[in-house]
Amino acid sequence: MTQTDDADLDAGRIVRGNKTYAAFTNKELLYPVRGLSKQEIVTLLPAEVAKLAWSCRRPVYHSPEVPTPCGRCKTCEALKLLN
Ligand SMILES: [Zn+2]
Repeated sequence: MTQTDDADLDAGRIVRGNKTYAAFTNKELLYPVRGLSKQEIVTLLPAEVAKLAWSCRRPVYHSPEVPTPCGRCKTCEALKLLN
C-alpha cells in the first residue's frame, strides 16, 4: 500500500463520515487546515495565538485540568524548531 493509497482511503473515510454526520445533523464539517504542514499552520496563526499554542505527545499534568508540554518529546522538539 502506498502513501497515495492511504490518502485515498482517508479521503474516502472522511467523505463517508461527513455524509453520515450531515444525514443526522444537517450540518457540514469543515477541515480548514487539512493538508497543511505544522509549519504552515503556525505561520497562519496570529502571533498572540501562536504563543499560546502547543502540542505534546506526553503532556505533564500538574493538576487534572492544567496540562503543560513535556518539552522533551518529538513533537515538542519539532515545535521548538518552528518558533
Ligand atoms: Zn512533549
